[in-house]
Amino acid sequence: MFLKINQDYLRSLIFGFQDALVSTTGVIVGISAGVNNKPLIILSALVTISVEAMSMAAGQYLSEKSVHDLPQNRHHDNLIIGSLLMFFSYLAGGFMVITPVFFVPLQYVSVTSIIFAFTSLFILGFLKAKLFTGKIWRSAIEMLVIGGLATLIGLSVGSLFSTTI
Ligand SMILES: [Zn+2]
Repeated sequence: MFLKINQDYLRSLIFGFQDALVSTTGVIVGISAGVNNKPLIILSALVTISVEAMSMAAGQYLSEKSVHDLPQNRHHDNLIIGSLLMFFSYLAGGFMVITPVFFVPLQYVSVTSIIFAFTSLFILGFLKAKLFTGKIWRSAIEMLVIGGLATLIGLSVGSLFSTTI
């Protein structure tokens, strides 16, 4: 019953958290490949997390609003609550990846963020399947592949334009 009432909210929570895990890791791995400067890596990740959390919340609000404005609308969720959930789940996902990075030396920054992000993605995929589809392994592995792709893109761009800052 809980799921029926709050499906839109759950979707915002999962989407925000998942997106934050993937893009924060991509940024950390990419910037780490490009520069040997831990404060700069952390700064880039923090800027990404805050800007993205805001933009995802705005996107959530606007896209939901257009759905709600449709004549055949059957949504009963609150637009503000939905975008707040998006905002805070994005922050949570981002900090899940960036927090451990503070405590490790520069050479372990990438691998630490990857381990934390991929573990979280796997658990998230698992929980998502438990709640919605029931296809646990498919969902968990799907999450890992998507996360892996974003990390690869970050890594490629970072290596391509690496500098000696
Ligand atoms: Zn809605």
